[in-house]
Amino acid sequence: MKEHKRYDIAIIGGGLAGLCLAIQCVEKHYNVILFEKEEYPFHKVCGEYISLESWDFLQTLGVPLPELNLPIIKTLQVTDAKGEAYTFNLPLGGFGVSRFSLDSLLYHIALTKGVEICTNSKVNSIEYNNEEFTICSLKKTVRAKVAAGTFGKRSNLDIKWNRTFTRQKPNSLNNYIGIKYHVRYNHPTDHIYLHNFYKGYCGISKIEEDKSCLCYLTTAQNLKNCGNSVSEMERQVLYKNPLLKEIFDSAEFLYEEPLAISQISFDKKLQVENHVLMLGDAAGMISPLCGNGMSMAMHSAKLAFEKIHLFLINSISRRQMEKDYSETWKRHFFKRLWMGRNVQKLFGGEVSTSLFLKSMHSFPLLSSLVIRSTHGQPF
Ligand SMILES: Cc1cc2nc3c(=O)[nH]c(=O)nc-3n(C[C@H](O)[C@H](O)[C@H](O)COP(=O)(O)OP(=O)(O)OC[C@H]3O[C@@H](n4cnc5c(N)ncnc54)[C@H](O)[C@@H]3O)c2cc1C
Repeated sequence: MKEHKRYDIAIIGGGLAGLCLAIQCVEKHYNVILFEKEEYPFHKVCGEYISLESWDFLQTLGVPLPELNLPIIKTLQVTDAKGEAYTFNLPLGGFGVSRFSLDSLLYHIALTKGVEICTNSKVNSIEYNNEEFTICSLKKTVRAKVAAGTFGKRSNLDIKWNRTFTRQKPNSLNNYIGIKYHVRYNHPTDHIYLHNFYKGYCGISKIEEDKSCLCYLTTAQNLKNCGNSVSEMERQVLYKNPLLKEIFDSAEFLYEEPLAISQISFDKKLQVENHVLMLGDAAGMISPLCGNGMSMAMHSAKLAFEKIHLFLINSISRRQMEKDYSETWKRHFFKRLWMGRNVQKLFGGEVSTSLFLKSMHSFPLLSSLVIRSTHGQPF
C-alpha cells in the first residue's frame, strides 16, 4: 500500500480561519498542509466590513494593514424598509477590505512562511483512525495528527457527516441567500449603511481603492417569489426602500454579474466533529448584520492554535484539547451568536424592524448593549 505523507496539522478550507491557523502553526515550526478548493485570488460573498477587534492580530500575522490605506468605519446608519434613517456610533468600529485582497495577502504570507498549500483541491473525506487522520482530496491523500475543519458555512463535508444544521427544515434561521457586488458610489468613507427591505437587509461600505462593497442577505423564498431572477427581486423587493433604489440607480457596478450563495444557516453547530476541530463559520455562523463573522473566524483560529500547540507538545491529551477548545469557543462566542440570532429574527418584518430601530434609537443604553453584546474585544 502507498505510504502517504504525514503532517502535524491538516487544515481543510483556506478562508480566514484556515489561513490564520496555518500561519500560526508554521511560525511554531509545525509541518502544516492546507487544502483550498478554489484558486487564489478569488471573490467571496461577504460585506467586507471587519470589526477592529482583529486589527492587531492580523498585524502580528504579517498583514501590513497601516500601509494599505484602508477606510476606517465609525458610524452605522440603518434605514427601515420605508427608508427612515437611524444613526448609531460604533464603539470599536471597523475597517473595509475586500476578501479578494485580504485572503490573497494571507495566502502569500502562509506560502512564504512555508505552509504547504494545495489549491484547486476539494477535500472529499477526513477519516480518524488510530490517533491519526487520513485526508483525501482530489489531488492527494495525506495523514495528520490534527485536523482542522475551516471549510466555511456549508460544504460537501457537512453533508457527508450529516451535520444537524444540514437536516433542518426551512425556519427563520436558515435558507438565506447572499448577493454581493463591488460598486463605485459616493458616500462618506467612515460610514457603513444597512438598508432594510422586506425579509432582508443590504449593507454598503467602503473597501480599498475607493470602491464600495454592496452585499445583501435575504430569504430564498423572496428569490423564488420573483421567478428566481435576482434583478427582478431587486426591482420588486429591494427598490421599495428608496435609499436602495437610489444606490442601484446611480452606482457604477464593477462586475458583470453579482456573486451569489445560497443555503445560509445560522443554526447551532458543534465545535468538534469526528475529532476534527471546527473553526470559523464551520463552528457557528453569526448573522452578517453583526458585522463580525470574519473577526470571529480569525479569533477562533487563535483559540484553536493555543490548544493544538499544547496537544502537539504533549502537555494535554487529544480528549483534553477537544474539550478545552469547545469550552473556550463557547465562552467567547456563545452569547454573541445568541444575540445575533435574536436580532436576525427581528429584522425582515416591516413593523418589527421599524419598532426595533425606533427603540434602539430612543434608548441609547439599549443600542449600546446590543452592539456591545454582538461584538468582542481586540484579541
Ligand atoms: C451575506 C453575507 C455578508 C457578510 N458580511 C460580513 C461582514 O461585513 N463582516 C464580517 O465580519 N463578516 C461577514 N460575513 C461573515 C463572513 O463572511 C464569515 O464569517 C467568514 O468568511 C468566515 O470565514 P471562514 O474562514 O470560516 O470561512 P470562509 O471564508 O467561507 O472560508 C472557507 C473556505 O473553505 C473552502 N472549502 C469549502 N469546502 C472545502 C473542501 N471540501 N475542501 C477544500 N476547501 C473547501 C472554501 O472555498 C472557502 O475558501 C458575511 C456573510 C454573509 C453570508
